Amino acid sequence: LGKYDKGMEKTRKNFSEKLNELLADFRTIDEDFFEDLEEAFIAGDVGFEMTLAITDALREEVRMKNAKSGDDVKEAIIEKMVEIYEKGENDLATLAKADGRPTVMLFVGVNGVGKTTTIGKLAWQLKQEGNKVLLAAGDTFRAGAIQQLEVWGERIGVPVVAGREGGDPSSVVFDAIKKAKDENFDYLLIDTAGRLQNKINLMKELEKMNRIIKREIETGADETLLVLDATTGQNALVQAKQFSETIDITGLILTKLDGTAKGGVILSIRHELDIPVKYIGLGEQMDDLQVFVPEQYIYGLIK
Ligand code: GDP
Repeated sequence: LGKYDKGMEKTRKNFSEKLNELLADFRTIDEDFFEDLEEAFIAGDVGFEMTLAITDALREEVRMKNAKSGDDVKEAIIEKMVEIYEKGENDLATLAKADGRPTVMLFVGVNGVGKTTTIGKLAWQLKQEGNKVLLAAGDTFRAGAIQQLEVWGERIGVPVVAGREGGDPSSVVFDAIKKAKDENFDYLLIDTAGRLQNKINLMKELEKMNRIIKREIETGADETLLVLDATTGQNALVQAKQFSETIDITGLILTKLDGTAKGGVILSIRHELDIPVKYIGLGEQMDDLQVFVPEQYIYGLIK
């Protein structure tokens, strides 16, 4: 938890600076106050729609109406945010685990969001938990992507199946699944090329991969995880929308929450798309991936 708090330090500051100024000056709850509150949320990347949802709910909140201090208001805000985020469901977004065969996870996302790094971190975590993990270098498009995954593989002691740059990613996937099955791997994590500029190609490529996965293990990928860079703010939301129009995303991973990100974008993504955030990235090292816990996250953002 100490590590988590430390990792979130900058994002917390980016998110809550305006809000804390407002609460320090708190006098009464009136329309001016709500207007300032909305500004603070927008500045924290919460997005317009989600901001309105929160402030509308807060206007009705009895605890808020009776608030005597900035701290009372803060507690009411945190509670309402958690409530809206969780939408009544309280369970943790865990990863799928297949029975009696390798669990197959596809990682998608545009270049530079932290896909390869996230695969390395998650592979390391799964290995630490005693699993046999295999990586597949399905991004044959971006120069250097294969090598970058191989560097991670070496660092964490996990084998990587790779083809050549410019080759057919589906044949890499085929080889990797075969190896994963033959050698009883628990997890296969597949890197893919993030070409959102060309939606049709991306869709075709992912469909082809899924066809091969289906043929080999009788279902599609167990998880299709979309990696998003939190420092890109509302752009991350746009990417999430575009990818989810193209393929079925089972979970999100928000990276770079240790830097210039404001962090509110997780709330707006939740509001607009019903896809759970499963992990957050808090740095570039192998142990910098954290399970996403909504309540902990929201407290960490505002506290
Ligand atoms: P890809 O193109 O999506 O595979 O992205 P990479 O994995 O190559 O990551 C792009 C850059 O972001 C690299 O320099 C990573 O070290 C960095 N990066 C990835 N995740 C994080 C994170 O959680 N925090 C920080 N600070 N940097 C990250």
